[in-house]
Parts: sequence; structure tokens; C-alpha cells
Amino acid sequence: MQISKNKVASFDYTLTDNEGAVIDSSQGHEPMAYIQGIGFLIPGLESEMEGKAAGDAFQVKVEPENAYGERDSGLVKLVAREMFGEIENLEAGMQFEAEGENGVEIVTVTEVNDDGVMVDGNHPLAGVTLNFDIKVVDVREASAEELEHGHVHGPGGHHH
Ligand code: ZN
Repeated sequence: MQISKNKVASFDYTLTDNEGAVIDSSQGHEPMAYIQGIGFLIPGLESEMEGKAAGDAFQVKVEPENAYGERDSGLVKLVAREMFGEIENLEAGMQFEAEGENGVEIVTVTEVNDDGVMVDGNHPLAGVTLNFDIKVVDVREASAEELEHGHVHGPGGHHH
């Protein structure tokens, strides 16, 4: 069976940046399972998955425009320390979920100084070219319930 819209595919992956540093990997975890064609994967990866079958292994380089976008300097801003309320030991590198224009966004603290807190609302992988090493493990039909929920049930997906 080949991967096409509304099929459930699971795959092992290693994600590296252009310097070869590992950003993420399924090693030691269940394979990632998802429904093809509903925008779960970044566009540049979803398009490469189309037509692949269990056992297929391939590498794909995805530029930021087809991944998490380019960095937007307008998303880097100074906010008041009070925004972080009771959080102690606030320091650069800490990440928080914030309600943004496009739903929940992750903001990263880049600097804490006397004026306040510099935060960066760019996705941590914005502006990063992604190199995927993929091995397709399984392809199957999605159940009606999975399609209704918009996510995979069972191994590699939701358990509920
Ligand atoms: Zn569900």
C-alpha cells in the first residue's frame, strides 16, 4: 500500500541541520504515525511521503519556506517582567507557550535585563533547513474515527 491522502503512515526518522547536528529523532521511541494529506507534517515532508510504501528509505532536504518559515525579526520583542508572573530564575533559553494569532505559539526567552525580558516568537526551527532521514515502517487505511478526530489512534498516536 502506498501513502496517499487519508492513509495512516508510520516512519522512523532522524532530523539534522546543515551542520549535521541531530535536532530530533525517533530512535528509542515508537515510529511517528500520522494521517497523510491533512497538514500534520510540514509541507516539504508531506509531499515527499506521497507514494512511498513500507520499507522505503529516503533522505529529503526541506528549505525553511516548506518547513517552519523564515525568521521574522518582528516577532522578537521586549516584554515586561511582570508578564512572567511568579516564575523564578527566568533566564535565556526558557520556552513558554503563549496564545498568539495562530493559536498556541512557543516563545523563547533570549535575554533578561533591567528593561524587561526579550522574547522570540519565531518557531525554534524557523529559518533552519531540515535534513530528514526517513524509513517508512507501515502504511494502512485510517479508520473513520481517526479521520473524524484528525489524528492517529494506537501506537505512535493518541491513546484515548
Ligand atoms: Zn482521537
